[in-house]
Amino acid sequence: MISDTIAAIATAPGAAAVAVVRMSGSEASAIMAQIFDHPAFSLSSQMEQVESHRMYYGYITGVDEVMCCLMRAPRSYTREDIVEIYCHGGNSVYAVLAKLLEYGARPAEPGEFTKRAFMNGRIDLSQAEAVIEMLNANTELARRAVLRKLSGGLSRKIVEARDSILTWLAHIELSIDYPEHEEEAMNMAMVKAGATKVIGQLEGLVATSKLGERITKGVPTVIVGRPNVGKSSLMNAILQEERAIVTDIPGTTRDTLSEEINLRNVPILLTDTAGIRDSDDKVEQIGVERSKESAKNAELVLHVIDRSVALTDEDYKIAEFLEKEGQQRIVVVNKCDLPKQAEGFGGHLSEVEIVEVSAKTGEGFEKLYRLIEEMFLEGGISADGDIITRARHVHLLNETIRHLRAALETIEKCMPEDILAIDLKAAYVFLGEMLGEAVGDDVIDRIFEEFCVGK
Ligand code: GDP
Repeated sequence: MISDTIAAIATAPGAAAVAVVRMSGSEASAIMAQIFDHPAFSLSSQMEQVESHRMYYGYITGVDEVMCCLMRAPRSYTREDIVEIYCHGGNSVYAVLAKLLEYGARPAEPGEFTKRAFMNGRIDLSQAEAVIEMLNANTELARRAVLRKLSGGLSRKIVEARDSILTWLAHIELSIDYPEHEEEAMNMAMVKAGATKVIGQLEGLVATSKLGERITKGVPTVIVGRPNVGKSSLMNAILQEERAIVTDIPGTTRDTLSEEINLRNVPILLTDTAGIRDSDDKVEQIGVERSKESAKNAELVLHVIDRSVALTDEDYKIAEFLEKEGQQRIVVVNKCDLPKQAEGFGGHLSEVEIVEVSAKTGEGFEKLYRLIEEMFLEGGISADGDIITRARHVHLLNETIRHLRAALETIEKCMPEDILAIDLKAAYVFLGEMLGEAVGDDVIDRIFEEFCVGK
């Protein structure tokens, strides 16, 4: 049992009207009694009269004027006594924390409050992971997807599948112990039908992981094109801030720059590349390779060409390379504010979307955004339903499916029941790991390391 009392600042650093310091553990209320001055009654002798979940106004002596709230165990986030102190933002919050530490609390580690919630059985591991994701969710879609997990939507599906497996195992144990049992044949049919159904459901969940990745990380999108067509300018115009280096000298934008943005409702991970082109220059070669590489890993490629000059061999080579890769692609015909020299690749290559824009004037961007939105939102990005957003879950689900398939094969081949039981038990254990059962300390530590202090 964890018994020491931890404390941390729960709000983001910096100037703010209000900041929250939080403390959890067996000594939390005793520490509150010593440091919190209530104008009307003395907490040190009347602590038991303090009502749970009620705000009290008062002072942390010599530090700040605050509101203070005690949440008594087990009705709290950690299921321990929690004290939250609402003080002024800025420096006061550090002084309040220092006071708590002076009176016996110790600084909390990242994620330690949520870890206690998990350890004390208030939430399961996939819910704890959802808390991390909620803290990191930077798009509306991501927030909505996580909300379901937070309330245990995903966990319920896992628990149901596990319960089914447990029932089959019980039947199998029974028929192993009592081989003369007549219902054995029926049991096998039940396991077979049930396992097939569960495999289907779990596969459905695994299939959402690609969507999960798009939602949490953004659709990986790259801007490619030969030097000087306006890639950096396009990136800048999209970001509406000068992050990429705009230059007149061809081939000097060498680094790959990535930014997470929301294009309308589509989360996008946008990367500007150095330009795909054949080059003898060593440094640029690296840039070119990187561009080819990032185009390969992208789901959407924005191929920029310059309309004010004739198309070059390089433009065609890049287009051909992209053609072979086969991602979603938009040819962005840039500099439409200048007189037209080049036509798009119309006729030369298979059908691609073409948009004329000017990175300089902003013309055509509406159409570009609309196109991207159509490609991805109507192409199935939505946050409804349970969505797998973590690699750990994909792995566990795949392992479970693998063992369930093996179990089906055992039934098909009429192999002994104890072999069937081995695979079903393995599937049961893997599903349990989704919820945090029987996972090693290393896995738990790794998960909670992703948290910030105070959560
Ligand atoms: P990159 O090498 O492909 O990244 O190209 P840059 O973004 O560095 O742009 C190359 C040059 O083209 C710069 O001088 C830009 O100011 C200019 N440029 C980029 N987009 C436009 C545009 O839409 N219209 C005009 N007139 N000039 C542009």
